[in-house]
Amino acid sequence: MNCLWCGRTQKEVIKLRELVAFTKIDPTVRCDSCSGKLVSLLKGTVCLGCSRYWIEEGLCPDCQKWKAAYPNYPFKHTALYQYNEFIKEWIEAYKYAGDYRLGELYKKEIQAFFCKQKELVIPIPISDKSKMLRGFNQVEGLLEFAGVKYTPALIHCGTGEKQSSKNRKMRMLSPQPFKLNDVFQDSIKGKSVILVDDIYTTGRTFFHAADCLLKNGAQSIETFSISR
Ligand SMILES: [Zn+2]
Ligand SMILES: [Zn+2]
Repeated sequence: MNCLWCGRTQKEVIKLRELVAFTKIDPTVRCDSCSGKLVSLLKGTVCLGCSRYWIEEGLCPDCQKWKAAYPNYPFKHTALYQYNEFIKEWIEAYKYAGDYRLGELYKKEIQAFFCKQKELVIPIPISDKSKMLRGFNQVEGLLEFAGVKYTPALIHCGTGEKQSSKNRKMRMLSPQPFKLNDVFQDSIKGKSVILVDDIYTTGRTFFHAADCLLKNGAQSIETFSISR
């Protein structure tokens, strides 16, 4: 196979175990060298609320601040990889330059995570402006490549101003940018939901989305992102 990221050719070795036990999980599309640049957050000590490295017990200081504002929120986040130069370059190419094919880069890990989930999968929506610029919702792209069924229950009704262009304080104070698509009113009532985004930065986006779904009758929320 040719690595989807760097293009290098790598001999493919599919173990019998993978063929027999994990038929629903495709082989990785990255070479060993590219995979070696990723730092997994699935093993090791992380904060349950946001998946960042955290060796002490309980939630990290940022999550504790959120806890004060959202006392009933369950604080269960899974991020696959630590944010670093590799993830940054991938986000630039996939999300900002709009190279849709790169949504396949974490297919195997996404499949492995979601094949065990029974929750309703809801992607974080993007603004119409972003969708026009990019041509696609990058979160839906990730799920589509992995073959994960999702429910696009949220609508972005904010200004579409980029989160990354605001400072931390401004992002914390930003108004609710999401609303429920009425068509899905009944399908989220009483349901356990897993919200999906590409990157967990401050948590602001997830809390807005979770708030909107909980107010509309969702029973519980957990969250997932590629990186933290
Ligand atoms: Zn590579
Ligand atoms: Zn945390």
